[in-house]
Amino acid sequence: DGVQELLLSRIRDVPDYPKPGVVFKDITPLLADPKAFTALTDVLAEGCARHGATKVVGLEARGFILGAPVAVRAGLGFIPVRKAGKLPGATLSQAYELEYGSAEIEVHAEDLQTGDRVMVIDDVLATGGTAGAAVELIRRSGAEVAGIAVLMELGFLGGRARLEPALRGAPLESL
Ligand code: IMP
Repeated sequence: DGVQELLLSRIRDVPDYPKPGVVFKDITPLLADPKAFTALTDVLAEGCARHGATKVVGLEARGFILGAPVAVRAGLGFIPVRKAGKLPGATLSQAYELEYGSAEIEVHAEDLQTGDRVMVIDDVLATGGTAGAAVELIRRSGAEVAGIAVLMELGFLGGRARLEPALRGAPLESL
């Protein structure tokens, strides 16, 4: 119904950003187009309903921009998963490996509980490291992963295959 074409047409390829040889997928043209942003929000909110999600987790930072309107549209609460050191309350944290070094993400411990079914939202799945860490974090909180939804999946990086074992059957959907 043309939604994929619309979304694709609003993503800008930026060569050699943030470093030479990398083509960065820039979603700011999509965010600036109310028709495209609304269509994306609707599709992601429909996925929340289809998978029985009870909460939406957004991954800092573009996952906040996409996830917050999805949560509102779906009638669900929004939970930020942030880079370490940004959340003021008691947190659960999860470290993960990067190409060079490591990173850590956190969530407020009180935001996720046993019985919650969480939809994880981000803009881009690249190596899958960030999404994998989010899955671990969510499971350790006692909540279940209803699914992972991203706007784009960079297939050539093999993120889906790397994530597969950790998903334990939870759907990974990319638009
Ligand atoms: P991963 O952990 O390697 O899968 O990288 C995914 C994270 O890096 C996500 O939070 C994305 O927002 C970000 N990311 C990686 N590549 C891109 C890109 O080309 N455009 C926008 N974000 C990206």
